[in-house]
Amino acid sequence: MLTVEEALEQILSRVKTLPAERVPILSALGRALAEPIVSGREIPPWANSSMDGYAVRAADTHAVPARLTVVGTVTAGAVPSRDVRAGEAVRIFTGAPLPPGADAVVPQEDTDAVDGHVTLRAAVGVGDSVRPRGEDLKAGDVVLEPGAALGPAEIGLLATVGVSQVAVYRRPRVAILSTGNELAELGREPGPGQIPNTNSYSLFAQVREAGGDPLNLGIAADRMESIEERLRWGGMADVLLSSAGVSVGDLDLVRDALTRAGAALHLWQVSMRPGKPITFGSIGERPVFGLPGNPVSAMVTFELFVRPALRRLAGFRAIHRGRLHARALAPIANPGVRRGYLRVTLHRDRAGWGARLTGDQGSAILTSMVRADGLAVVPGDTIVPAGGDVEVIVFRELAQDSV
Ligand code: AMP
Ligand code: MG
Repeated sequence: MLTVEEALEQILSRVKTLPAERVPILSALGRALAEPIVSGREIPPWANSSMDGYAVRAADTHAVPARLTVVGTVTAGAVPSRDVRAGEAVRIFTGAPLPPGADAVVPQEDTDAVDGHVTLRAAVGVGDSVRPRGEDLKAGDVVLEPGAALGPAEIGLLATVGVSQVAVYRRPRVAILSTGNELAELGREPGPGQIPNTNSYSLFAQVREAGGDPLNLGIAADRMESIEERLRWGGMADVLLSSAGVSVGDLDLVRDALTRAGAALHLWQVSMRPGKPITFGSIGERPVFGLPGNPVSAMVTFELFVRPALRRLAGFRAIHRGRLHARALAPIANPGVRRGYLRVTLHRDRAGWGARLTGDQGSAILTSMVRADGLAVVPGDTIVPAGGDVEVIVFRELAQDSV
């Protein structure tokens, strides 16, 4: 059976980044940049004051208190009308250009102004309270590289350098199919023998969170024609994602249906818990995943295999979740030979991060997924004792209340 690393390597070796498109920067949030961004500007464009105060020559402040003549005012958005000469000061406000001749700003708090003069109570050095030209960006600087994830700071930076439209990679369209005679669609009360369809919804949300565009293909019955028909509906998507029907039961038809739909299947079964039965293949260039049916298995295999693939398709340089090391706050047991991806909460205290199992680790126990901040990676047949080290894949923003 393949290890998780071997399976992921096979998957990523077959996944190529999608083409780019040009969009307004406000539509680029959460997407991956497809071009280098070079600043055509110096930011700030000229030396300016970082304080409200007086623009002076630093040499005039060496003997304090010093009394200087106030010869003008410069506000943000204005242009200095006059140089600052020896013995002179210009009243200046935050963000206003430093007048020629001045080389420092004395903060207002250190001054007393009376009748066209100002008395400085503190000496300043050259450059004090001055933001030099080009301090943040120099013209010609590469400020963002292709593959960068565009978050709020990056969007602000694009605006700063005057970029209104930007090339980003296309979001992967991901068609999601649930399979199983037992599934009742949301909005219908499950009949006798039926259970609610969970996976279409959790996977839809995971696709969106990963930066993809999900498309819901609904539920196929455990009949070859039903699965094949719905798979065809997903023909315009970049990725096909089905859940359930990939194990060894009599009604586990997804692998055959994928093959009939033209898929070459590259792998099946990975040594992990939850979620051993997972299929990956391709129809032409399009990746197809057959995830296991149990809701937690489907979500965990999405995290480990589908998410990195979608991030690669979407052009992100960083495709993996962050990991951290934590100490087990109580024993964490992984019985059985397969590597465990165990749901844990994370807690921060003075000694660092601690991890605790969310409870029942059954692959159908969705409530313990809801509580989880991440997945502890534990080798087979291992009990991590209380205080022992575990590696945790973090899939939730760690809020202050878990700190
Ligand atoms: P299977 O691999 O088809 O045997 O499914 C494994 C388990 O997952 C069974 O208990 C199914 O009822 C359950 N399951 C399959 N698909 C879904 C779904 N879309 N939502 C919730 N549970 C599911
Ligand atoms: Mg089934």
